[in-house]
Amino acid sequence: MKLLVTGGAGYIGSHFLESFIDSESGHDSKIWVIDDLSGGHSEFIDVLRIQAKKRGVAEFHFDKRSLLEEEFVTRLVKDVNPDVVFHFAGKISVGESVKKPDLYFNNNVKTAKILLSALEHTQCRQFVFSSTAAVYQPSFDQQPLREEFPLGPSNPYGENKLQVENMLEHAAKQWGLGVVVFRYFNAAGASPSGRFGEWHEPETHLIPLLLAKYDETDKFKVFGSDYSTRDGTCVRDYIHVSDLASAHVKAVQYLKACKSGFEIFNLGTNRGVTVLEMLNAASVAVGRKIPFDVVARREGDPAVLVASAEKAQKILGWEPKHSELNHILMTADRWMKTLAAIQKR
Ligand code: UDP
Repeated sequence: MKLLVTGGAGYIGSHFLESFIDSESGHDSKIWVIDDLSGGHSEFIDVLRIQAKKRGVAEFHFDKRSLLEEEFVTRLVKDVNPDVVFHFAGKISVGESVKKPDLYFNNNVKTAKILLSALEHTQCRQFVFSSTAAVYQPSFDQQPLREEFPLGPSNPYGENKLQVENMLEHAAKQWGLGVVVFRYFNAAGASPSGRFGEWHEPETHLIPLLLAKYDETDKFKVFGSDYSTRDGTCVRDYIHVSDLASAHVKAVQYLKACKSGFEIFNLGTNRGVTVLEMLNAASVAVGRKIPFDVVARREGDPAVLVASAEKAQKILGWEPKHSELNHILMTADRWMKTLAAIQKR
């Protein structure tokens, strides 16, 4: 099998590649990774290359290129003629998307358009797309969210992802692309292997920020405590990144069996955790107090996002196995120590 993986040097992409290479389908496969390393890391590619060699992957290629380079993308797609594309690449921060909507449109929507136009003229008929819970309408208060619930993103990041979902649905209808869209809830934790984890610069995500060191003059900031939730802070559904990775491995089997169509799956745990609950759990996990201040709400943040992942369980036979809070926090904390050592080198 020939795979084209965009954003394979990033957080979720690298975890997927680690799982895929270790899976039965990994052996003998040919893998092409494109990543401009604006959010990804060459260190992950180095580790994956070694793992691929050990596990008998037939070919492993990496191009440090942007998906905005239309000529390059078109040529690569034509030359590789992949069986399946995993499209992880994109900008991922809700707060930044509100401040820089054009940057987000270019990197999340324009790139997908370039990739799809290139694919239309190849034999590739399988596409797996990384979408988000941010596509749902935040004012809709029925939780957990099911895939058919009303859409209406409250920030440019969510809008971008929804636009790409629509483009893919069109491609499925017009030229028979087989599409699996995964709406991730909050990706969290790190590979139990200790080789990959969350590494964003600057870091904006809750768990790595909670696990950083604070003191009474530099406290963790809770964004708003006046939401109508059980303790006033936002509720999210934290799903271990290894569980997200395993869903993608299942998607390959699913697309092979069904050939065409367009299916959306939520990936989450059905469990909501508030910011303060996570702060307390992190404090127990690392054995130290986490001093905090409540500050203003972050623009674009919906109050509650919790997934019903029943559809993925029923159709893909997927279920989260690593998403227990302690395991998420423990693997994330272990990775933070590895990351600190990498950054010191
Ligand atoms: N959050 C916070 N302080 C921070 C970072 C995040 O209170 O320094 C909150 C944020 O407002 C949201 C939740 O933690 O309610 C998860 O945020 P994150 O950025 O990790 O993921 P998102 O839900 O935006 O995808």
